[in-house]
Amino acid sequence: MEIVNSNLIENIRTQKVNQEDVPSLRPLIEDMVNFAKSKNGVGLSAIQIGLSYRLFVAYDFDKNVWKVYFNSVYCPISGSSQFAAMEGCLSYPGKTYLINRYDKVLIQWDELTSEGILSSKTKIFYGRTGQILQHEIDHQDGITIATKGKLI
Ligand SMILES: [Zn+2]
Repeated sequence: MEIVNSNLIENIRTQKVNQEDVPSLRPLIEDMVNFAKSKNGVGLSAIQIGLSYRLFVAYDFDKNVWKVYFNSVYCPISGSSQFAAMEGCLSYPGKTYLINRYDKVLIQWDELTSEGILSSKTKIFYGRTGQILQHEIDHQDGITIATKGKLI
């Protein structure tokens, strides 16, 4: 597993994961978590390792566990505001970007049940976890800190 060149992740929309894709993707999840950890990352999207699917893993700072998100989308909830955040990305090693994030977002995604069935979830996220999830969900749509943020 290795990080692909950044021109292979920018402005490229990933494809939805269907139930029939799950058996081939499921074995990669633990490897993605271990790979992200080995790079001191807090999230990793499949497209960053050359798999153009709406799939990522991210550390949940609210629950202190790594979680898997299939087919995720986010939108700001009413009353949320934006803040400027400094972020890095495993696809841009050693660089820091300034980027606007929402403080409260509604996220919809699919989780795997213990039987390996995609099951829809919706939840409001705040703070650092919400910020990480926005970063990773942006990857699903080919949006990165380099395409949307400002190098500092
Ligand atoms: Zn990233």
